Amino acid sequence: MKSIAISLFASSIVTCCMCLSAETVGVRINTVANTNSVSGRVVSVADGDTITIIGDGNTQYKIRLNAIDAPEKSQAFGQKSKQQLSNYVFGKDITVTWKSKDKYGRVLGTVFVGGKDINLQMVRDGYAHHYKRFDSSPAYAAAETEARQNRRGLWSDPNPISPEDYRHRGKSAAPLAASSALPRSSAQREGGSRVEYRAGNAMPVSSRTAAPVNSTWPDTGFWLSTNSNKRHNRKCENYRKTRGYPCSKDEGSPCGKCGG
Ligand SMILES: [Zn+2]
Repeated sequence: MKSIAISLFASSIVTCCMCLSAETVGVRINTVANTNSVSGRVVSVADGDTITIIGDGNTQYKIRLNAIDAPEKSQAFGQKSKQQLSNYVFGKDITVTWKSKDKYGRVLGTVFVGGKDINLQMVRDGYAHHYKRFDSSPAYAAAETEARQNRRGLWSDPNPISPEDYRHRGKSAAPLAASSALPRSSAQREGGSRVEYRAGNAMPVSSRTAAPVNSTWPDTGFWLSTNSNKRHNRKCENYRKTRGYPCSKDEGSPCGKCGG
């Protein structure tokens, strides 16, 4: 990995001199066989996989570290991951090799500090997942396996949630609620805010579709109707069919019909 990176840098320097049009506008993006590189000083670290650098001519680049996925800031190990990346890069002059940008216009790149691949290091430290859906590098896969075996960083958690799953959980309620085919949201509680199952309140209970059972909406045996604050058990016709969410047996007040 290191030797490949160094040879890329070497060819970057050669082609750099030919990039006159780019140089004149103060943007130093060098293209070598579809691989670009950009250098600059890290002025901000947003989280464990996103940084901002300022390059030549005061040009600012937002960089999304390629091939890795770090925990979200609100997620377990999110802050530690951010801190670890800061330790490696903040205030330093770095080089980023990249091939493409993401839909937000961020450079999808590999960050090097003194020839060291920081993306790989974050995986090795257990502060980022190898983003296997977008990358098949054996070195990254091996680094993740090793971090996991040694329970480093986020792997010290027996049940780590991938950042991707975490993001999906946070979003799942809204799109489902907006869908005409599925007027009810697959609701959940996330980050302290409660999202409810939206039952078709205009319809009689018997013709409503029950809230789906899945990992974020478990069948706990109790259902809290948030309109009435009544708790229902499995025998009740209201179970999973009112506006509410799966609850424990000590939430709300017991339903007068089913006993809660
Ligand atoms: Zn009931």
